[in-house]
Formats: sequence, structure tokens, C-alpha cells
Amino acid sequence: VVDGRNAVAERLVIVGASRAGLFAAEGARRAGYEGPITMLGAEPHLPYDRPPLSKEFLAADEDTSPAPPYYRSIETLRQQLRIDVRVGSPATSLDTEARTVIAGDQSISYSALVIATGTTARRLPGASHLEGVLTLRTLDDGQRLRAALDSSPRTVVIGAGLIGSEVAAAVCKRGLPVTIVEPMPVPLCRVVGEQSGKVCADLHDRNGTTLRAGVSVSGLRGRRRVEEVVLSDGSRISADLVVVGIGVIPEVEWLRDSGLRLDNGLVCDATLNAGLPGVYGAGDVVCWPNGQPDRLVRLETWTSAAEQGRIAGHNAARPGEAMTFSTVSYMWSDQYGSRLQFIGDAAADEIVTVDGVDVSVARPVDRHLALYRRGDRLIGAFGLNQPRLIPKLRAMIGRGAAFDDAVRACRG
Ligand SMILES: Cc1cc2nc3c(=O)[nH]c(=O)nc-3n(C[C@H](O)[C@H](O)[C@H](O)COP(=O)(O)OP(=O)(O)OC[C@H]3O[C@@H](n4cnc5c(N)ncnc54)[C@H](O)[C@@H]3O)c2cc1C
Repeated sequence: VVDGRNAVAERLVIVGASRAGLFAAEGARRAGYEGPITMLGAEPHLPYDRPPLSKEFLAADEDTSPAPPYYRSIETLRQQLRIDVRVGSPATSLDTEARTVIAGDQSISYSALVIATGTTARRLPGASHLEGVLTLRTLDDGQRLRAALDSSPRTVVIGAGLIGSEVAAAVCKRGLPVTIVEPMPVPLCRVVGEQSGKVCADLHDRNGTTLRAGVSVSGLRGRRRVEEVVLSDGSRISADLVVVGIGVIPEVEWLRDSGLRLDNGLVCDATLNAGLPGVYGAGDVVCWPNGQPDRLVRLETWTSAAEQGRIAGHNAARPGEAMTFSTVSYMWSDQYGSRLQFIGDAAADEIVTVDGVDVSVARPVDRHLALYRRGDRLIGAFGLNQPRLIPKLRAMIGRGAAFDDAVRACRG
């Protein structure tokens, strides 16, 4: 492979040793790529599964020590997939002219590159000096949080998004007191709307988690350790542990001087190409036109990270036969023994509840389903304990089904 000036050995380099990176390697091998693969990971771990970190890994009591949820053994990675995995080795910059990834004192040439650096947890400004203020993104974060919970603290979770809500549910399962503070009137309001958000609020309420919604955090107090969370209405909550779940930031700092287009992540085209021959992106870091040329989206889901990884790996291996990628996004969350699922697009003209009791009459619901309409099409759905309907609806969105047909299919 010739880069224009120097001949460089054929090598696929994957930056990011997690779900999208692993599936990219598997995608390249499946596409028949036989050359060397080097995978760089910032964390000191082999690729592992993140969803359990806020679920069973966290909920397990202090006597149980859950195994880290690794995806593949080191033997599989090295011998079967023939990946030179370098963990604890963050890429620090990218020289696209020399086709080289720099990782500290290492300089690695590539003929094809997959960028799969994911996201990092957003931190609460002004809280870095206090002990007992944690975020949850990595296995190390999960282990720290588990250890902190072992001393039975009063926990405050900031943000009732999926991670915050799951952390609260796991803390609750361990029999510990927990309060969630959420600035919006109901959890997940921007994604699921007010009606379904009330269903999520009810879930917390029924299971003993205190939800303080419609109020924000104005500061944390404490000398060395956090002792109190101060809210915008002037009230205070005593806390031994604060878990900040206020979203994530795409991990693109190392690409600042690369010349690649960055805008809420790494901007890619429909084939996940990042604008230069041989350079692809995959997973939570990527922002791409998901079947709609005029709108870039970035998904933060387990399912699309694998799907994108596979396609990016295939395209890196066979650029002449590059496949485009579009998906109906799928996200699930497990809370208090219930399964929440969201599919498709949240930018709806209208959200219609089609199943479950009316939450305005304040009766607890075990099941709930809301459908999202744009024009006369079904574009999304949110379900609580609807494992049969959600896959059906996902398929309907994929084939552009009419909204009325979807309503009939759910009621029928
Ligand atoms: C606690 C938790 C629970 C979740 N639960 C769910 C769920 O229930 N359902 C769902 O759909 N999704 C869930 N997700 C989201 C899902 O795990 C992600 O969508 C998925 O992990 C994305 O994979 P990724 O490979 O794109 O990015 P990541 O998993 O973020 O991996 C990126 C990797 O790149 C590494 N990296 C970053 N910068 C560099 C660098 N410069 N050089 C080298 N390596 C670098 C990072 O250390 C990281 O290991 C959850 C996430 C978390 C954190």
C-alpha cells in the first residue's frame, strides 16, 4: 500500500478496544482481511461489556465479587482473531498525511484505520476536589462505585437518564437509601416525553427511590469528602456518595489536529468513512447520516456500536465494496426488574400512549407503550415490559410503516 510518499506495510489499526473496535476487527476478518491488526486501548483492560456495570455488576452485594464482563479471552483475540492488542495505550494524535497513529512514544503506521474511541462521562463542574463524587463509564469506575457502596452510604444520583436510573435501581437492590435529582419534570423527558416519563418516575417511586424532579443541583458541599448536595430550590440532601450521570462527551480530543471533521463526534458518511481514504469510524464516537442525508446523528447504544463496528471493519478491509450503514436504533435499560426499551427516533410530531393505564390517574403500571409519529409514519416507540411488541415495531419502522397500522398492530 502506498501513501503517496512512502510505502507503508499493510496494517489495519483500530483505536479503541471496546465493543465497536472488537466488532471492527471481527468484521475485517470476516471480510477476508488476512493482514496484521493492531488495536490500541486507553484502558488497562481487554474489551469488556459495559451494560452490566450499571446492572448486575453493581447490584451484586459485597460478598459477591462479579467477574469483569470480558467479551473475548486473550487467546481468542491474539490467536483466533490475530489482533495485536495493546491495552493501557491511548492514542495521543493522528497524522493523516503520514498515515500514522501516535500513542505516547509509539508510532504505528496504518493502511486502514478504524476510530472507535467511544465517549467519556461528563463531569460535574467544580466537584473534582471532593472525594465520593463518582461517574460510571468504565470497569474501573464500576469497581470504585461497588467498593464505595460496600460502606452502605446514603447515595445521591445526579441525572435520571438511563445510567443514573439504573445506578439508583442497583443501589436500591442493595437495600441502600438513594435519591435521584433531575432538572426535567420527569426522567428521560427529552427522549420519551412527559407521559412515558411519568411511568419511569412511578417505577422509581414504587421501588423506594426518592426522585427530586424539576430541580437542579446548584453545588456540592463538604470539606474533603462530599457531605451535602445543594439544590436550586435551596434544599439540601445529605450524601456520603454522589454519582453523576449527566451524559457523555465523544472522545475526540486526540483527533483535534488531525484535520478530520469533528462535530458532536467524528463526522462520517453513510459508509462510515471519515473523509479520507481508508479512515473509518464506528460506535458511540461517530456522527453520521443514518439514512437521512441532511441530518447527522450519534447513537450511544450497544446494538449500533456492534453493527457499526462490523461495517467499518468490512469497509476498511474492502473499500472497493464498501457497504452503507443505517439502522433503527435500539436501546434497552433494566430497572427494578422491569425492562425499558426505546427504538427509532425521538424527534416526533406526536407521542401516543397505546397500552397501559393512564398514568394521570396515578395508578402504578407494569406495562406501557408509546408510539412516535412524524407525519403519517411510525418513527419510534418506547415500551415498558413489552418484549414482544418492540421487535415487531422496530421492523415496522424499518419498512416505513404507517402510524395507524402500527397502532392497530399493537391494539389488535
Ligand atoms: C454503565 C453503562 C451501561 C450501559 N447500558 C446500556 C444498555 O443497557 N443498553 C444499551 O444499548 N447501551 C448501554 N450502554 C452503552 C453501550 O455500552 C455503548 O453504546 C457501547 O459501549 C459503545 O461502544 P464503543 O466501542 O463505541 O465505545 P466505548 O464502549 O465507549 O469504548 C471506547 C473505548 O475506546 C477507548 N479510548 C478512548 N480514547 C482512546 C484513545 N485515545 N486511544 C485508545 N483508546 C481510547 C476507551 O477507553 C474505551 O475503552 C451502557 C454504557 C455504560 C457505560
